[in-house]
Amino acid sequence: MKLPACWSCKKQFSYGKLLLLWVGSTVCPRCGETNYLTAESRKKGAWYTPILIIIMVIGLNMFDIGFPGIILYGLFFLLIGLSFSPFTFHFTDKQEPLF
Ligand SMILES: [Zn+2]
Repeated sequence: MKLPACWSCKKQFSYGKLLLLWVGSTVCPRCGETNYLTAESRKKGAWYTPILIIIMVIGLNMFDIGFPGIILYGLFFLLIGLSFSPFTFHFTDKQEPLF
């Protein structure tokens, strides 16, 4: 898997910077151009969330883990979702409408 790069100068963004960028835009540290998430990658992100929730619910029915277990399990999946999300990002030079 590869981290996404700036649309202008093709420099890859750092992982930490991408995690902070979940909803909006970022300015490239090298060329100073603003990078927006493409509508496509935002739509993909919107799909992952319900899939993760479904996996979570199935998991909760399989194990009798109690309330603290449910919280830990939820956090675990949230972390996995967050840590993989930057790999699905693609950038463009202008804000695209979602629909
Ligand atoms: Zn750049």
